[in-house]
Amino acid sequence: MTEATGIVGEFLSLKADTDADVLAMQCGDFYEFFGDDAELVGEELELKVTSKSSQGQSYPMAGVPLADLTPYLKALVERGYRVAVADQYETDDGHAREVVRVVTPGTFVETSDADAQYLAAVVADQGSDSSSGSGSGSGSSSGDETAYGLAFADVTTGRFLVAGTEDVDEAMTELYRFAPVEVLPGPDVRTDDDLLAQLRDRLEARLTLHETEAFAPKRAAHRVRDHFGGETVDRLDLPESALAAAGAVLAYVEETGAGVLASMTRLQTHRGDDHVTLDVTTQRNLELTETMHGDRDGSLFATIDHTKTSAGGRLLKEWLQRPRRSLDVLEERQASVGALATAALARDELQDVLGGAYDLERLASRATHGSADARDLLAVRDTLALVPRVVEAVESTPDLADSPLSTVVNRVDRERAADLRETLADALAEEPPSTVRQGGMLKKGYDDDLDDLIERHDELEQWLDTLADREKRQHGLNHVTVDRNKTDGYYIQVGRSAADGVPDHYEEIKQLKNSKRFTTDELEDKEREILRIEEQRGDLEYELFQGLRQDVAERAALLQDVGRTLATVDALSSLASHAAENGWVRPALSRGGALEINQGRHPVVEQTTEFVPNDVAMDADRGFLVVTGPNMSGKSTYMRQVACIVLLAQIGSFVPAREAEIGLVDGIFTRVGALDELAQGRSTFMVEMSELSNILHAATDESLVILDEVGRGTATYDGISIAWAATEYLHNEIRAKTLFATHYHELTGLADHLPRVANVHVAADERDGDVTFLRTVRDGPTDRSYGIHVADLAGVPAPVVDRARDVLERLREEKAIEAKGGGSSEPVQTVFDVSSGSFRGPANADGGDPEPATGVERDPDAEAVLEDLESIDVNSTPPVELMATVQEWKRRLDLEE
Ligand code: ADP
Repeated sequence: MTEATGIVGEFLSLKADTDADVLAMQCGDFYEFFGDDAELVGEELELKVTSKSSQGQSYPMAGVPLADLTPYLKALVERGYRVAVADQYETDDGHAREVVRVVTPGTFVETSDADAQYLAAVVADQGSDSSSGSGSGSGSSSGDETAYGLAFADVTTGRFLVAGTEDVDEAMTELYRFAPVEVLPGPDVRTDDDLLAQLRDRLEARLTLHETEAFAPKRAAHRVRDHFGGETVDRLDLPESALAAAGAVLAYVEETGAGVLASMTRLQTHRGDDHVTLDVTTQRNLELTETMHGDRDGSLFATIDHTKTSAGGRLLKEWLQRPRRSLDVLEERQASVGALATAALARDELQDVLGGAYDLERLASRATHGSADARDLLAVRDTLALVPRVVEAVESTPDLADSPLSTVVNRVDRERAADLRETLADALAEEPPSTVRQGGMLKKGYDDDLDDLIERHDELEQWLDTLADREKRQHGLNHVTVDRNKTDGYYIQVGRSAADGVPDHYEEIKQLKNSKRFTTDELEDKEREILRIEEQRGDLEYELFQGLRQDVAERAALLQDVGRTLATVDALSSLASHAAENGWVRPALSRGGALEINQGRHPVVEQTTEFVPNDVAMDADRGFLVVTGPNMSGKSTYMRQVACIVLLAQIGSFVPAREAEIGLVDGIFTRVGALDELAQGRSTFMVEMSELSNILHAATDESLVILDEVGRGTATYDGISIAWAATEYLHNEIRAKTLFATHYHELTGLADHLPRVANVHVAADERDGDVTFLRTVRDGPTDRSYGIHVADLAGVPAPVVDRARDVLERLREEKAIEAKGGGSSEPVQTVFDVSSGSFRGPANADGGDPEPATGVERDPDAEAVLEDLESIDVNSTPPVELMATVQEWKRRLDLEE
């Protein structure tokens, strides 16, 4: 096969030198793709594929106009491709091409999405001295020596965060929280199959194996110090693994040529003591940013989000995913939300003003990257102009002026913001074009040389505008116009009737049907001059514009500050709007105090349902609630409501309740068994147990734990035993505030044995054969005969109902559960002793012989139905199914009416 030469050859050789999946190579006014790349973009982007021959071979070819590359890049990186972009530049002998950038999911600067776009690096440092550095997380260590370092950068906003932890789950939680689009695993992570698999399964991110030298500790640390300054790095006292991750991210951003490093002005890290653990499972179970079905609508975030700007929306989401524990921070936010909730008019005004704000963090990145055009800089100007209006709206409203919001808005360096706004206002034309090379972007008065050019240009235009009239007058011509087009340049067009009378110095250039076009030496001179001036103007404006853009880029930190402030005002106003419109109240916060919610509601469910409010009261003496109640009565909603209210309180929000007192927690842990999971059997039970295990490892006495059924995925006795032991452990050892919904009624007996355990139940009512769920949570265990009432109401024969009461009675007496089964005719006696929480087999059962079942027909059919009746779990079976089962029993007992 002959090697391709010419343009295709150049393409293939550039492609061979990059590790990108696709190459886009500039050829004049187009970016072209050849060979496999052309096929790929043809398919992925529905581009037309033609062919190009080289050395007798034909190569597929596809292309997009220069100006249209961005949307195609976006589509490709969103599908996870890395795209190299080669630009063409002039050389002494023609032109050459060079890859200037590799665009990847995490380094795509031009995104138009509002969401944050994080690039992450994760480093595992085996055998490290994990005590070094205080940047490590507060979660409990799982006992190994590995330290994990994480770094997150959003190239579109310049945000840069680092974190360190010794706990792999916490590392995963952080990763999940940031939802990066691209992850760079460090050398030790690449050999950890388990972690790699988790990264693949849990994140929707491209995993990029970036060169390992970038992660080398010394080199990485050097790079981080170089970029953010040695002092900052020393002050944060970061562990080596975190520095390695940060260094690798910086190296990657630089090497891909995104050109935004300068927008990363600040290195941020976690505030250890202020951290609230919110693991992946909990974020999902509480439907924080999306529902269990993956929809954004119906999530807690979508419900409370009334922000007016994308930066405000990003910040509010960040708050929700990163609740706080610092009383100062939270009370400050609460005070602002409270003031904004009261000052409705000022809030409207603020939200109105914010509606005109552009995304300053994004614009700062674009300026740094060099891709901002004049319209982007206008957007910067206009957004900076809102600062005084925001400050004014706050300061002129006494409620707001006295609130911490005043401090928030006054934190901005208004003078510098005003300076930059003025510079831009003085420079930019009102309606600049979107191109940056052709002039028209800058105003008169901005630069003397440019003014000269504009003036000369204006004069020439003036001369041209009046030329037709002059020619008419001087030469007595009719029907004369002067115009310009691409092929003819400037011309004098004379109507056919007058065309014969033109003076001699007119030189004919074109004959049309009804007219002729002429030029003159003078006109040609002027044309040359005007073209020269236009070119000079384009060049000079571009140069001046670049200077202006550089000025903006150098103030990236200022823009980020202002952007952050506006976003904060936006997020606080959003919380205030929601509180005001939904009757939410300010919770009283305390460290380590009680959790008391009076008439609480579920923040999402209350939007769509006539919600029945409920109370919760937990304190040092009552820290563990066993929640019982029939299926579908509202147990799970109640528990999630409590978790959501605590979470909202810990972002500084008001909460859906009449009154609330929230003892701040250091973590929220949930374990929720979805029904479809239960159907999947054993492997899901494994998941259930590993979730339980995580909670038992990570929760502390300051945590909130929500357990919605534990042990259901296995046999009854297994399940009860696990639930029992977990309860004891949570109660005695961990002492976390716990809500535990269970269908094991045996557990309600725990309240008699463990001092801090209390029973609550969701009430249901049966009247006239109808079952009503009251949705009201009351103290005490659920009425266990509820199911038998239903059976009775449904017309189950009296002997069966009686026998059921009898069985129940015996269970109540906490004596024995008689388990028959296994096809054996011998009943097997197992005793479950609630006071000790243990089972005893028939051999050592001290309850004597099993009581014979008395007063029951010994008919085998009835016996079989009774067996069924004993094995059915009334409280976990939906009423409809119960009815059907009862009907089936009636059929078997020949009792059908
Ligand atoms: P359980 O966990 O007991 O099976 P769920 O919490 O799933 O029950 O609630 C069942 C249904 O009842 C849900 O559709 C929920 O929206 C509704 N619900 C729960 N609690 C309330 C309440 N306090 N007020 C109104 N509707 C509720």
